[in-house]
Amino acid sequence: SFRAVVIEKGEGGQRAALATFDEADLMEGDVTVRVTHSTLNYKDGLALTGQAPVVRRFPMIPGIDFAGIVETSDHPDWKPGDAVVLNGWGLGETHLGSYAEKARVKGEWLVPLPASLTPHQAMAIGTAGYTAMLSVLALERHGLAPGAGPAVVTGAAGGVGSVAVALLARAGWHVLAVTGREQEAEYLRGLGAAEILPRDELARPPKPLAKERWAAGIDAVGSTTLANVLSMTRYGGAVAACGLAAGMDLPTSVAPFILRGIALYGIDSVMAPPALRREAWTRLARDLDPAALAAMTTTIGLDRVFEAAPEILAGRVRGRTVVEIG
Ligand code: NAP
Repeated sequence: SFRAVVIEKGEGGQRAALATFDEADLMEGDVTVRVTHSTLNYKDGLALTGQAPVVRRFPMIPGIDFAGIVETSDHPDWKPGDAVVLNGWGLGETHLGSYAEKARVKGEWLVPLPASLTPHQAMAIGTAGYTAMLSVLALERHGLAPGAGPAVVTGAAGGVGSVAVALLARAGWHVLAVTGREQEAEYLRGLGAAEILPRDELARPPKPLAKERWAAGIDAVGSTTLANVLSMTRYGGAVAACGLAAGMDLPTSVAPFILRGIALYGIDSVMAPPALRREAWTRLARDLDPAALAAMTTTIGLDRVFEAAPEILAGRVRGRTVVEIG
């Protein structure tokens, strides 16, 4: 048996606690991994608190991503001792997750740990950072480059936002970082933001079209914020939508699309195909400044995820949180 966070469902709702878990109760999979690091993502906050129905099976071990070492494998691509990373695929939702010393998963879900990253760095990036890179890749595929104009990042002081700011700044973009936390302005400048925009500016009822302010956007917030981002995107620009920290709705119109020819790309990290994952991880290993990554990262133990969960949902966590397990 091994140590794990376990969510049980009872009369009064769900309950999450540290417990011991029997290896025989792990779900089907052809690779067993000794998990060394996981992270705290917004979705982990939802799962741990039960604030949204993220968990689809009980008991559940939450945790949507990990870095670890293969212990046993019946999959041709992996052998004992291989360093691996996993994001999504229903981990912590439908499949027993990563807040545990062991995980059994399908070999096809795993990505090799890039040689230049430590497991701690890989999880400092985690699902949030990998999603930021998927967003950058979507903007690049649109044909956008720093010469096109500024780039805006919403939810900038959060996990996805922090990595997005660092990646875009290092690639040469003039980055406008949108944050509700004035006190994080220095932090965001340190990651490479050129300008800080107060969140309120994008929280007003959106006009169908407003003054053109940026050529590219990465949005972790959704709702009115995303609608405003769209209405201020320059002719021919593009926005990658990856989050819903302010809500699932999108009170926009067709105006930015049919009058400015802009595009809105939907970013999903959970079921992203293996080739795209490998591309994203390769690019993260190459392009993300290790000093910026270190500056945005806090490390906690597995016993601290319970108190951290409501904090991330309240938008009070800065950057990324690594959960040390091994
Ligand atoms: P996070 O660290 O909590 O970041 C979210 C940030 O959004 C907060 O730090 C805050 O930034 C801002 N925010 C929070 N509440 C807000 C509100 N009511 N109005 C406006 N801004 C608000 O979470 P994360 O892990 O980076 O995830 C960010 C979002 O991306 C979440 O919605 C998550 O579910 C989503 N996500 C999606 C995928 C995918 O596959 N599509 C993958 C990963 C994450 P400031 O304080 O700087 O304003």
